[in-house]
Amino acid sequence: MANAGDAVFDTVLTDALLADGNTVSIGIAAGRIAAIGAALPATREQVSLGGSLVLPGLVDAHVHLDKSLIGDAWQPHRAGKSATFSVMERVAIEAEVLARAAPVEQRAAALIELAVGHGTTHMRSHVDIDPVTGLKSLHSVLAVRERYKGVVSIQIVAFPQRGLTSCAGTFELMDEAMREGADLVGGLDPSGVDHDMHGQLDAVFGLAQRHDAGIDIHLHDAAAEGLAELDEIAQRSKALGMAGRVNVSHAYALGMVPKADAQRTAERLAAAGVSILTNAPGNHAYPSVLQLRAAGVTVIAGNDNIRDAWWPYGDADMLERAMLIGYGSGFLTDQELGVALDLATHSAARALGLDDYGVHVGAQADLIVVGARNVAEAIVARPVRSHVFKAGRLVARNGKFLGR
Ligand SMILES: [Zn+2]
Repeated sequence: MANAGDAVFDTVLTDALLADGNTVSIGIAAGRIAAIGAALPATREQVSLGGSLVLPGLVDAHVHLDKSLIGDAWQPHRAGKSATFSVMERVAIEAEVLARAAPVEQRAAALIELAVGHGTTHMRSHVDIDPVTGLKSLHSVLAVRERYKGVVSIQIVAFPQRGLTSCAGTFELMDEAMREGADLVGGLDPSGVDHDMHGQLDAVFGLAQRHDAGIDIHLHDAAAEGLAELDEIAQRSKALGMAGRVNVSHAYALGMVPKADAQRTAERLAAAGVSILTNAPGNHAYPSVLQLRAAGVTVIAGNDNIRDAWWPYGDADMLERAMLIGYGSGFLTDQELGVALDLATHSAARALGLDDYGVHVGAQADLIVVGARNVAEAIVARPVRSHVFKAGRLVARNGKFLGR
């Protein structure tokens, strides 16, 4: 608890319930939390929260702003013809769907506004980079990021959706994407898609070194194959001193192998500082959140596909995603439900390298307010976000985006 002293606040939130059970006032000045105390001096902008719970802004650590069909006409999901799921078949279907869809700018803006209404204040978006798309989607997402910069902060991953070493011209485009504003280098199933684990990882880590950037790799490859890739990613990250800058999204393999095998790889990931993201898919094994955390791995959450050619579900709501992860993981206790929220808040902020995150004095005032008595109830009930603040500015009210 800081003392307010003579601080002058832009906004004071009163009757605010914190996750620790204390009811306080929160003074905001110059976009930051300037004081938290039992009573703060009155200011022009007083907002009584009526005892509602204040949480840090939600972090959606994995979206695809270029793929979502939110903001466009309803598109029924198109089933593939293959007996088993095929990434490349889905890519071909997606290309047909997106060719007739509204422009990326329109759909990405609609997704951002929906997400902000649900309290997302930071997101990491993958953007397709391939010889068909070129850098068009990247340019669109960069433009949308600029338009919404006061509302949500966005990291962009250059994502080789059609493969990297197996898709001629992609490496050069990824290099160009990194020069033009992408923040991280993406990857995709080095073995399953490129059939060349070392080749793709040489390219991904090489680009990351060249541009002094972090890495975020989609990894769906199964069981032993996927585990070998995770071990290799951990080894390379450690050798290059990239702790805290490498994330693997999905890492299904960790949920498909015997627990002892997953444990060995988890310890390697922890030692290398590689984080793991899950969205707890309903139709596939995924890593044990608690096993990874116990091993020291930072586990984070993201929505991934939201109403696009891959997946018809999703509402861009990270409280809902945290609930789905808790539901799928068998979380029941308040403490476990707190873990589910942590994946979408503090752990995600750490993995994404967000500075000054949280509900404490000095932190950026990215805050959400929900009518819940504690964190566990916020996850199970997912109440409408009554207020969403980005750097101290009210950007959504009662679930609705207020405008840029
Ligand atoms: Zn994805």
